[in-house]
Parts: sequence; structure tokens; C-alpha cells
Amino acid sequence: MKKKPDFNIQMRTLRRRRLFLWFLVAIYIPMMWLVLHFGQSDRIAGVFFGIWVVLVAIAANFTAFCRCPACGNFFHMNGPIPMYLRHCLHCGMHISGDEKRNHFHKKS
Ligand SMILES: [Zn+2]
Repeated sequence: MKKKPDFNIQMRTLRRRRLFLWFLVAIYIPMMWLVLHFGQSDRIAGVFFGIWVVLVAIAANFTAFCRCPACGNFFHMNGPIPMYLRHCLHCGMHISGDEKRNHFHKKS
């Protein structure tokens, strides 16, 4: 498979969006613990939770509708439900961009 000139830029964008999504998911418990510990208020915790939910929804959609630079289809979607796996759900391109690590091996 011949790589397009902006292949590496698109893969970097894809990896950054995924990293931001997983970062948001990872900070949930520490964030809520800190807010409840220092905020001493359920209302403040509710505000932080609401902001967190909105940010996760935005990040999840941006990541889900990111296109694969190899095949041009959605990297994380092959149907209505996104699956945030480390390879393209259409062509098998690994998130690293390394063709040796592709999920589907083509016979050529
Ligand atoms: Zn693909």
C-alpha cells in the first residue's frame, strides 16, 4: 500500500485525538475525588461532572469521525457504534502507521 504525502500528519492527528479522549476518561476519578474533597459541595461536583461529560462527548465524536489515512473510511467506526481499537476497522491499519503491525494481512 502506497502512503499518501500527508499520511503521517493524519496519523498524528488521529493519535492525538485518541490520547485526549483516553486522558479525559483517565482523569475522571482523580478529578471527582479532588472536587469532592476540596469543594465540599455536591453542586460544585455536579458542575465539574457536567463539564466533564460534555468534553468526553465532544472528544468521543471527534475521535469516532476521524478518517483513516490509508483507506479514507472512519478509523473507529464500521457501523453505528464506534470501537476505539488500535487498528482501522476497515483496512486494519495499525495506529502506529507501521504496515507490519496491520491487523489484516493482505496477500500480494
Ligand atoms: Zn483504514
